Amino acid sequence: MNIPENKILIDIENIRKDFPILSTLVHGKPLVYLDNAATTQKPNAVLNMQNVYYKEQNANIHRGVHHLSETATFEYEKARGKIKNFINAADNKEIIFTAGTTAGINLVAHSFGKTFLKAGDEVIISAMEHHSNIVPWQMICEEQGAHLRIIPMNDEGELLLDEYKKLLTPKTKIVSVVYISNSLGTVNPVKQIVELAHRNGSKVLIDGAQAVAHTKVDVRELDCDFFVFSGHKIFGPTGVGVLYGKASLLEQMKPYQGGGDMILSVTFEKTTFNDLPYKFEAGTPNIAGVIGLGAAIDYINSIGLDAVEEYEQSLLEYGTGLLRAVKGLRLIGTAKAKAGILSFVLENAHPHDIGTILDRQGIAIRTGHHCTQPVMQRFGIPATARASISFYNTKAELDVLVSGIEKVKEIFG
Ligand code: PMP
Repeated sequence: MNIPENKILIDIENIRKDFPILSTLVHGKPLVYLDNAATTQKPNAVLNMQNVYYKEQNANIHRGVHHLSETATFEYEKARGKIKNFINAADNKEIIFTAGTTAGINLVAHSFGKTFLKAGDEVIISAMEHHSNIVPWQMICEEQGAHLRIIPMNDEGELLLDEYKKLLTPKTKIVSVVYISNSLGTVNPVKQIVELAHRNGSKVLIDGAQAVAHTKVDVRELDCDFFVFSGHKIFGPTGVGVLYGKASLLEQMKPYQGGGDMILSVTFEKTTFNDLPYKFEAGTPNIAGVIGLGAAIDYINSIGLDAVEEYEQSLLEYGTGLLRAVKGLRLIGTAKAKAGILSFVLENAHPHDIGTILDRQGIAIRTGHHCTQPVMQRFGIPATARASISFYNTKAELDVLVSGIEKVKEIFG
């Protein structure tokens, strides 16, 4: 889509009213919230829905015959249907509720790993993964005697696909890569990564934590085998997330955790497991969180991800221009395909000091390694300051960010 600026479909003034926290004052200054990659703010629609659930519908699901339990079950399963449509999965049974992206990756690493990984096999990840897409694979590789291989990247923060092709061998059982990097903003060519893996007979997991709130995801178009994301990064509650998996694969995989709801029958001699998706949902889930996530999906659908993407790209372009003009500032992550993440370092000022001084001006950014220490090692820096954009941000807020950075420079000479 190429929409002229004056036709952008985001009604920013009204949208900001949907998010009560955005009118907060911080240290007496209007909040400028630019930490959306860490977590997003919640609209009234989500807050109200959770309230309604606890006030009017609260009961445990699946096991009750009484009215409240049936209502709660209905709402919980309705949310599953919303997620299925949102990412265009083929069936509700391919949508498994988890605690978040980290939980989803751990589930796949453990369950896929225990079912399919043998000594000498290989797992490919990339040089820009979040720790949650590194450590679970290291753990299962160690247990199974398999090995981790890493797709390298260039100085722009783009994956080297030729190197990736060389890494794919008959030993490669699964490739697990991030869609949009949380520390660099790189949008990876995941469709191509999937195609190459499949040609090699390998499965693919996509970490969509930073993707779902910023671009339309169609898991069948991508043809990925697994896709994971967190509710809190898409305007939903914390403690809830989604694992999408192709039914044919999930059916072959061993359960991750045992407990209530994931069984069909239990005797001391033998347990038979429930059908999908319940086989992977042991115990009482985050019912309010799931229902709240359903409300978040309705909300984002009402705005439209095409409009969101278009608007955020215009903010990214504007912010990149502003930051490039700041003397002594170096952007980390300059890929051609980029989402709204502006990671940078500043001469003479440590990122933590930048973050603290900006906070005094009401500006919330994140500083540190962003759970991607290998990315910091690759760029030879200890940390970055990171401003991350959502569709409720404005160009005026990016102006405030840059004047804040100028203040930091004054202080540090
Ligand atoms: N992957 C990426 C790319 C992320 O940005 C994050 C969160 N920063 C995660 C995984 C982990 O998400 P969560 O902490 O919600 O499980």
